[in-house]
Amino acid sequence: MKVLVINCGSSSLKYQLMDMDNNNRIAKGLVERIGLPGALLTHKPKDGEKEVIVAELPNHAAAIKLVLETVVDPDYGVVKSLSEIDAVGHRVLHGGEKVSGSVLIDDEVKQAIEDCIELGPLHNPANLAGIEACERMMPGIRQVAVFDTAFHQTMPPEAYLYGIPYELYEKYKIRRYGFHGTSHKYVSQRAAAMLGKRIEKLRLISCHLGNGSSLAAIKHGKSIETSMGFTPLEGLMMGTRSGDLDPTIVSFIMKKENLSGEQINDFLNKKCGVLGLSGVSSDFRDLQKAAEEGNYRAQLALDVFVHDVKKYVGAYSAALDGVDAIIFTAGLGENSPEMRKNICNTLSYLGVSIDDEKNQAARGEEVDISMWGAKCRVLVIPTDEELMIALDTKEIVSQL
Ligand code: ADP
Repeated sequence: MKVLVINCGSSSLKYQLMDMDNNNRIAKGLVERIGLPGALLTHKPKDGEKEVIVAELPNHAAAIKLVLETVVDPDYGVVKSLSEIDAVGHRVLHGGEKVSGSVLIDDEVKQAIEDCIELGPLHNPANLAGIEACERMMPGIRQVAVFDTAFHQTMPPEAYLYGIPYELYEKYKIRRYGFHGTSHKYVSQRAAAMLGKRIEKLRLISCHLGNGSSLAAIKHGKSIETSMGFTPLEGLMMGTRSGDLDPTIVSFIMKKENLSGEQINDFLNKKCGVLGLSGVSSDFRDLQKAAEEGNYRAQLALDVFVHDVKKYVGAYSAALDGVDAIIFTAGLGENSPEMRKNICNTLSYLGVSIDDEKNQAARGEEVDISMWGAKCRVLVIPTDEELMIALDTKEIVSQL
């Protein structure tokens, strides 16, 4: 079975064609600058050369059309005809409260995605446009939606409700949703496989640390707490996002700096986090370099980040009544031994103890970096959201 995975962002589109008979990637690609001058598609077949195509792409439908033309192109395509593709799996940001798992797309699902546009204004419209374009251009091919929020729908009310009048939750659905669900689900399943234990027996803390970062407490395979909330702004301080704040700070800054609602939103999402605190960069590699060179604010930003992770791990080990393993994933979690070490050094009280050599060596592959016999295991697991989307798509389509 071949599954095309589509991930539409606000102005970009990532795709992968997967052979689900062996979970192999046949090709992957990225379309950038959709709706902007200078749009381009970069296509990479598994064993072939990278191909860059410059095109005029006014919208996501045009981008999908170009992707489909590319995968069947006689020179650099990877299938002879679109009929070789059995199903399409779409990443969708927000499913609100109506969706707790991956689903076959029908009118009701599309309506649910549309109903959540207010909650995911940048992504849900793009996700919907991608789905509708595929429906038009690949008639009869089944499509599945895999939601970033779905994995966290198992959280109990005490974890997802905020301290605001219940009526506002009922009226506007203001609650914690959580994001990165596909990643947290994937790495938790891989962790169980690595540990050789059934996931139903495990208490896991998954640390997805990248540009956007979130932690999830996963009890017996189900998310029971996560650090992102109503939007992906809450939780840890991130590359450019503030993370947790006293809510009063928002109106205080608005007044002092004369900012509108939209401006403060933009500010908190794009100008804060380690970028704002350090004044150096949102990229942790730049911060680590600057800190080594003696930049005080860069070091401060790194220290606050480590402290944030430590705090959340502490809270989540309490929520889980103990923790069997901590997982590091995403750009920073997978690639920065230094960050992992700094975080793990604060967690010895949980029985965390890592092997320096294994930690240094772990990049881009699944490794248990714990010391032999450590009570709480520490695992580095490269996330693979596309594979998870393809696996869910295969499972749903196979049952039809
Ligand atoms: P996104 O949230 O955009 O998907 P990624 O998961 O790709 O982000 O993570 C990107 C971030 O990972 C970069 O901003 C960078 O800070 C961090 N990163 C990647 N490689 C390294 C590395 N070798 N050392 C430290 N940080 C890294």
